[in-house]
This record gives sequence, structure tokens and C-alpha cells, in this order.
Amino acid sequence: MKKDRKLVVGNWKMNPGTLEEAKRIYGGIKKKKALFSHTDIVMCPPSIFIAELKKTDRNKDLLLGAQNVFHENIGAFTGEIGPALFRDSGAEYTLVGHSERRLRGESDEDINKKVNSALKEGLKVILCIGEKERDLEGEYLSFIKNQLRVGLDKVNKKILSDVVIAYEPVWAIGKSDSEAMKGKDVHEMAIFIRKTLSEMYSPQEVLEIKILYGGSVSALNAQDIVGEGYVDGLLVGRQSLSAEAFVEIIQIVDNL
Ligand code: PEP
Repeated sequence: MKKDRKLVVGNWKMNPGTLEEAKRIYGGIKKKKALFSHTDIVMCPPSIFIAELKKTDRNKDLLLGAQNVFHENIGAFTGEIGPALFRDSGAEYTLVGHSERRLRGESDEDINKKVNSALKEGLKVILCIGEKERDLEGEYLSFIKNQLRVGLDKVNKKILSDVVIAYEPVWAIGKSDSEAMKGKDVHEMAIFIRKTLSEMYSPQEVLEIKILYGGSVSALNAQDIVGEGYVDGLLVGRQSLSAEAFVEIIQIVDNL
């Protein structure tokens, strides 16, 4: 169990526009890795850059992750990339169920197939969950609970340390840093997620699973979110496309 280590994940989405630029940003982050003693860093670039970035990082300073994965490994699946191919190209993690993919029609059942298939192939899974909006009746809590229950269905309990939950309220993604969730509210959700997980697993097993927050994280709010939110790290979108901004965020998390 490596629960005390923090995890910061950068999701580049469909950016940057060239491999050269990707190498520049990646190199800028890698250069600072020695500053961080208890934070693991996972970069999720567009799939086409994974193998090339891996080649630039012989010391494995940074870990690489896919942004999505298909549930089959090989065969007649035009345009898809399965877990075995990602492993071969150097990825150790994959995001699954990012809200931008759910918006394009991915269901919790699709996501569950991907989760199990990726884990079986040895990829660590960052399962993204989060409500689209809040309601006064607390319906969003049942929505989150369902995303967790279905998303993690049939996951082998022996490998729960390979599972990370990224709580990303959809309404907080892609906004200004003042619109990110406040640390005390992140804490409330982290407690709810742990409580839901404890209905599925033993207390010891729940401790294996890291919980991250994502949604408009910047150097201005990272301390409050992780320090007051009691999460194990962050999933960062736009701010991970600037080596300087991302390194600043990692430094804040590492100091906590
Ligand atoms: C994301 O899309 O996962 C994300 C957290 O984006 P941003 O940090 O840009 O809100």
C-alpha cells in the first residue's frame, strides 16, 4: 500500500498540436522531477505521442497514461487502441470514463468493461466520476454512487491498489480557478466516495484506492483542494500544458 504517496495526473486532452511541442512540455516537467520526493506524476498525452515521449525518458521520471482505452486487446476494431497496445507503447496508466467521453455516449457499463480489461492487462486505472450538476435533493450523490458501483463491478479486490478514483464534477471542469470546488466541499465528497467504497470493500481494501480531485485546478487553489479536501492528489487539465504551471502545482502537493 502506497497510500501516503501523492499522485498528480496531467490530462493534455487533444493537445498540443505537434510532437515537438509535446516533447518540450514533457521535458520541462521531467527536468524538475528530482524536486518531488513523495509525488508520482502521470502524464496523459494524446495516444500518438506516448511511445515517443517514453523514448525521451529512459529514467522513467514521469509515468505515462492513456486518455481512454478500448476493452478488447486485438482484432478487427478499426480506430480503437486496447490495453495491450498501450502497455507496449509505454503507458502504465489509463484514464477511463472521462466526462468528455461520457458526453459522447460512453455508459457506465462500457466504462466497466474498459476498467476490467485494462486492469487485467496490467494498466493502472484512473476511473473518472462526477455529477453534471447539483440538486438540492442530493440526487447527485446517488448518481456518483452508481458510477462507482457499476464502474468497479467485478474488479478483482486483490488489485485495488491499481485503481484510482478521480472525482471531477463536470460543472467545475474547464472553468476559472475560482470556480473549482472548495477544499471543504472536496472533503465532503471524498468522505462520500470512501463511504460508498466501504460498502463494497473492507476498510483495508478501501485504503488501497487513491482519490483525486479534478476540475479547474491551478497553483492558486491546489493547496486548499488537497490540504482541506484530504484527497491523494489531483487530475489537472489545461494547467498541465504549461510545464511551469504544472510543476508549481506538483510542488504545492508535494509540500503538503
Ligand atoms: C479535465 O478535463 O480532466 C480537467 C480537470 O480539466 P481542467 O483542469 O482544464 O478543468
